[in-house]
Amino acid sequence: MPETTGRAPLVEAVGLRKSFGSGDHAETVVKDAHFRIANGSMVALLGPSGSGKSTLLNLLGLLLPADGGTLLIEGEPVAMGSANDRAHSRLVNTALVFQSFHLIEHKTVAQNIELPLLHLGLPRAERARRVGEVLERLEIAHRATAHPGTLSGGEKQRVAIARAIVTEPRVLLCDEPTGSLDSRRTAEVMDLLRSVTTDDRATVVVTHDQAVAARCDEVLRIDDGELHQVTAPAAVPDATTPTEVTHRSVGRSRSGRPGHWAAVSSREAMAAVWARMRRNLFTMIGVGLGVAALVLSVGFTATVSAQLSDKFNGYLAQRVTVTRTDLERAPLSTGMAWDQSAALRRINGLNGVEAAGVIQEVGGGAVTVTTAPEPRDQFPGRVQAPVRALSDQGMSALGATVSQGRMFDAGHARRGDPVLVVGRATLQALGRPWVPGLQLYVDGQRYTVIGVVEEDLSAGGATSALYVPLSERAMGSSGVLSVLVKTSLGAAQQVAGEIPPAFLPEHPDRVLAAAPPEPRTLTQAVDEQQRILLLGMSLVTLVIGGVGIMNTFLVAVMERRREIGLRLALGAPPRAMTLQFGLESVVTAMIGSLGGTAVAVNVLAVVSLVNHWTPVISGTTIGLGLVAGVVLGLVAGVYPARKAAGIDPVAALSHA
Ligand code: ADP
Ligand code: MG
Repeated sequence: MPETTGRAPLVEAVGLRKSFGSGDHAETVVKDAHFRIANGSMVALLGPSGSGKSTLLNLLGLLLPADGGTLLIEGEPVAMGSANDRAHSRLVNTALVFQSFHLIEHKTVAQNIELPLLHLGLPRAERARRVGEVLERLEIAHRATAHPGTLSGGEKQRVAIARAIVTEPRVLLCDEPTGSLDSRRTAEVMDLLRSVTTDDRATVVVTHDQAVAARCDEVLRIDDGELHQVTAPAAVPDATTPTEVTHRSVGRSRSGRPGHWAAVSSREAMAAVWARMRRNLFTMIGVGLGVAALVLSVGFTATVSAQLSDKFNGYLAQRVTVTRTDLERAPLSTGMAWDQSAALRRINGLNGVEAAGVIQEVGGGAVTVTTAPEPRDQFPGRVQAPVRALSDQGMSALGATVSQGRMFDAGHARRGDPVLVVGRATLQALGRPWVPGLQLYVDGQRYTVIGVVEEDLSAGGATSALYVPLSERAMGSSGVLSVLVKTSLGAAQQVAGEIPPAFLPEHPDRVLAAAPPEPRTLTQAVDEQQRILLLGMSLVTLVIGGVGIMNTFLVAVMERRREIGLRLALGAPPRAMTLQFGLESVVTAMIGSLGGTAVAVNVLAVVSLVNHWTPVISGTTIGLGLVAGVVLGLVAGVYPARKAAGIDPVAALSHA
């Protein structure tokens, strides 16, 4: 029976259907409901218990998806497809008043009333204005800062109605609002509902109570799912002006910015993290421990590797020492002969060889160095040091850094000058700064110190010796003879393999070419052992932290089931709940990982200090800790967040 007037009814249901269960157990609760609700009208929905009143109300309130039929508001079909669509229509069109008020206990009266405005995305000032207005109108302004626990039943009812009308809904849906009230209070509530049902709104009241129905403009009776419109719809107020077709854009004045739900959820998530900080402390510590273990294992590995690389890369990685197994000690003349030999030239000709020269230990292992000739024994400036005679090429092969003065040269060797170059440590032990012309006595013999070699500890103390030119007149007469080869970086192993046949083609087996192990393989071997152990440990800890987060948030979702249901019923889209709980989890995990990273960096610094290491803590390592925290929060938060979004508001708000 089409309306002949120009203005569409505020609400029109066309063949609404709803069943619960499936197959043989399906129960049709609302059967093909057709009805209209005019602007400015109060409608009673009457019927015995279990007849489907609440179900129909929830269909109108879009808390439930209909199985069939169409719902039109001012002639426009309402999108009911997805839960998020329904949430939006709910937010902008309808509001619900529940029999058991569902006020949030930890929020004040004003905050409870403000909640739907938050989800609507209104600015703070506008929210405050509207809440103030409604508080005045319902005469509960004096309880604005009270908590629901301290309110009387009648006051709670007013707060629940205030929360519903504060969004200025087109359709106010009340499920047995007077069910637990005496007749005086019932009359009060009905007066209140009448006063908020202005010309462009409608109110639907579910009731058993004939007295309530009598105060309404029309009555819909539902019996076993069959709907009967008992009274005719009231005359539409502006039926006389048929040309005026209002297609008022639904909720024009009410919908906030699109996507504002994300901002609201983020704010609510932050507030919840803050409010629950203490409760989540152990979860945060769990995550922190996992992240700390991860950062420590990576940082520790990097630090230790760096120390190893320092030791091996600098000097040894480029040195090969060549000796002859059949020639332990040799006279100096042999060393000089080696220096001129074709064998040495062949080594110098090998690819990757930068310099190769003769080095000969002289002076029988260690000599006594003093700053004055006599008396030797009790003289304070006195040290023991090895002496090495170096050929011209040997100096290049040694590659030591001369920081003061200069190295000796071929001329010194030829003339047999009594000159030497001394290691910095030796000089310091003698308590003498270097000056040109400085004299030192070696086993009583006077030498002129022409240069100072910097100590290079990574070279295994090699430079703490005295160096003299290799000549017939070098101190002593014989010593351990070797060829010192300097290779390009990383070539030492390769070169060492090629040296024996090059040096002594007839008897390569009599040549020993010693190269240090490749620094990289060495550090890698160390790394791998540590990585397996430490990464394994940190992963286990991380997983425990993740399980902790998931558990905490699952419990939280269950605890806050009613609150989540209420937010959904007020019009928050399910995706807002996903975001809120996901974000809470991520932020909680991030706080934990920030703490864990800080702890790890400090532990690493202290351990390094104790071991005289240089701590290696890169931005990547710290970033890794933070990223691990975010990923953990995301992974652990997905399930609880989806559970929160999947909560059925009808079930969450019903009395179980
Ligand atoms: P009323 O509000 O009139 O007392 P309801 O609309 O709450 O009745 O319930 C109508 C019928 O639908 C009842 O038989 C109830 O058991 C059933 N029902 C309501 N909600 C559900 C649900 N979520 N799942 C299954 N059955 C339901
Ligand atoms: Mg009911």
